[in-house]
Amino acid sequence: MSKDIPALYGSLVFNDKVMRNKLPKDMYKALKKTIQNGTHLELDVANSVAVAMKEWAVENGATHYTHWFQPMTGYTAEKHDSFISPTDSGDVIMDFSGKELVKGEPDASSFPSGGLRATFEARGYTAWDPTSPAFIKDNTLYIPTAFCSYSGEALDKKTPLLRSMEALNKEAVKMLKLLGRDDVTSVNATVGPEQEYFLVDKELYNKRRDLIFCGRTLIGAPAPKGQEMEDHYFGALKPRVSAYMHDLDEELWKLSIPAKTKHNEVAPAQHELAPIFETANVAVDHNQLTMELMKKTAEKHGLVCLLHEKPFEGINGSGKHNNWSLTTNTGDNLLNPGKTPAENIQFLVFLMAVIKAVDDYADLMRISVAGAGNDHRLGGNEAPPAIVSIFLGDELTEVLKSIEEDRYFGKHETIQMDIGAHVLPHFTKDTTDRNRTSPFAFTGNKFEFRMLGSSASVANPNMVLNAAVAEALAQFYEELKEAEPGHMEEAVHELIKRAIRKHKKVLFNGNGYTEEWVEEAKRRGLYNLVSTPEALKEFISDKNVKLLTEHHIFTKEEIFSRYEILLENYVKTIEIEAKTLHEMLAKDFLPAISTYAADVAKNAAAKKAFMPSVSTASEESLVSSLSGAYETLSSGLGSITEVLAHINEKISGMDSMQDAANTCLNEMLPIMDSLRKTADEAEAKIPDEYLPYPTYDQLLFSV
Ligand code: ADP
Ligand code: MG
Repeated sequence: MSKDIPALYGSLVFNDKVMRNKLPKDMYKALKKTIQNGTHLELDVANSVAVAMKEWAVENGATHYTHWFQPMTGYTAEKHDSFISPTDSGDVIMDFSGKELVKGEPDASSFPSGGLRATFEARGYTAWDPTSPAFIKDNTLYIPTAFCSYSGEALDKKTPLLRSMEALNKEAVKMLKLLGRDDVTSVNATVGPEQEYFLVDKELYNKRRDLIFCGRTLIGAPAPKGQEMEDHYFGALKPRVSAYMHDLDEELWKLSIPAKTKHNEVAPAQHELAPIFETANVAVDHNQLTMELMKKTAEKHGLVCLLHEKPFEGINGSGKHNNWSLTTNTGDNLLNPGKTPAENIQFLVFLMAVIKAVDDYADLMRISVAGAGNDHRLGGNEAPPAIVSIFLGDELTEVLKSIEEDRYFGKHETIQMDIGAHVLPHFTKDTTDRNRTSPFAFTGNKFEFRMLGSSASVANPNMVLNAAVAEALAQFYEELKEAEPGHMEEAVHELIKRAIRKHKKVLFNGNGYTEEWVEEAKRRGLYNLVSTPEALKEFISDKNVKLLTEHHIFTKEEIFSRYEILLENYVKTIEIEAKTLHEMLAKDFLPAISTYAADVAKNAAAKKAFMPSVSTASEESLVSSLSGAYETLSSGLGSITEVLAHINEKISGMDSMQDAANTCLNEMLPIMDSLRKTADEAEAKIPDEYLPYPTYDQLLFSV
């Protein structure tokens, strides 16, 4: 039986249609104005919206409401309050006020704050974000909110993102006015994140401490088959996976999450989901919900969805491609080359602004995707390197080069412009170019930022991109604002000439996975921040603090608090991994080695006793190699404990969190890597029935 998908779509969302039906006309108009122009919402409007929301929510089975927010944990947070309100007669009514809608006061003391919120001031508050629609999940009305400390500092990922959207809007509208676009009153960033993930059988998952505690395997010999046959990418969906994907799509559609594309990815057991793009902050909310529903829906199918960046060694990890562009309130995509020369000028200014932004703030872009998990991917020949560069494709590169060199741009036979030194080239959209290895690629009418890890919120990278582009536009504005009337095209020509000379070092159309590129990037003076601790150090550089404070994305205190939080998150992640590896070796793997070695020895002895002439050389060499591994791993346990103690000293002593992070990177990770190597070699020699946990063979080919 086919379902009525249009009726299902958005059925659990307090969307425009519901608002129009439920709200008095003047209240509806006032709310729309707030949503579109970010104007202040009067309390009477809030009250009216609250009543409508509650009515709709209760009709749809809701008993509770929650202010839903995105603290620095990387997950979302919620605390549910019921609508019940006792009456004098001892009954209850379902009640919800405007005040409860617009503001909540959760105790914030247990969320990461990086020292921002002194413990005596535990209160934080959540403020309704009317630009992202409320929705119902599990009989609760979810109200998207921003989360701040009581003195107004951001404690979440949404607040800075909203601030960056405001900065970008301001600078983009200003620039467009200068270019003669008086019709544009607002500009929004649009985002479409392609989400990769793995599915494994839940029963198998439950037997592995590393998957349970870390989301990735810490040991495990490779399966005989990996991704080398290239047979999984876009392969036919297996029935269990297909059923899961169907179910997931419906759950997402009910919440107006525009899930569009699904397919098998490169690695065995790996898949991808891509939605249709939306306004940046809605896309961020929807990506958080998507990740949550991916996990929840998997449970219903006896599966577990792994969102870690590198769940398995030896095969691809998971990333998230962040498609990004700019849209005007008039519906123009500003990164669309357009059809007319005037549209081309506009396009070139915005294109150049993005190039400048990425070159000037490549370090911040890298930082925006930094994390212990993603460090396993970047530069691993499966994902872009840690060097941020831009792929433009041959045609656009040639367009910019022709401007730089004052040459005429002649594409094929269609030279459409008069010739003159100060005339910009005319060109049309060319989507033939494709490049898979660039971290930041132009794909026809948008940029695709490909360095994101699969598990992280997409708020940070978009916040950085918005802020950096806002700054580039602001600088361009200063250079263009004196242009004489009628001479804007020349002024833009000169501007682009200057800018491309300065920023062309960030352009690279070649293969980003090669060693030659790493060398070349070094010669060009580009950043190559290979690890999170190294990258985070740059977060607090003067240049970056200046950008983020001048555009009111962060205060200086907020930046330093985030720097602490991110470092701490890195340190804690590595600590948990180290402890898990310790436990897994001590409790699971070492006993398995020992039992198997003893059995081999026993059998060899029995053989020898039965027939003294028989050779037991193979058994002896096996027992000897297993015993060697046992020794190495046992003493490795001691090293883990020792370095854990070092890290702890650094955290609790006078040393900084940066030192603790460096110790994780330089001491703990090498130990873990080397133990893994020993363990994996030994595991390959041990029969499955001796291992207390499932192997890669089972995990990757079970579904
Ligand atoms: P491609 O084949 O170049 O990857 P798709 O049309 O398949 O392009 O889009 C990939 C992702 O990019 C989708 O999530 C899509 O919604 C998103 N996307 C398309 N246009 C835009 C845009 N203007 N802004 C942001 N994201 C976009
Ligand atoms: Mg993909």
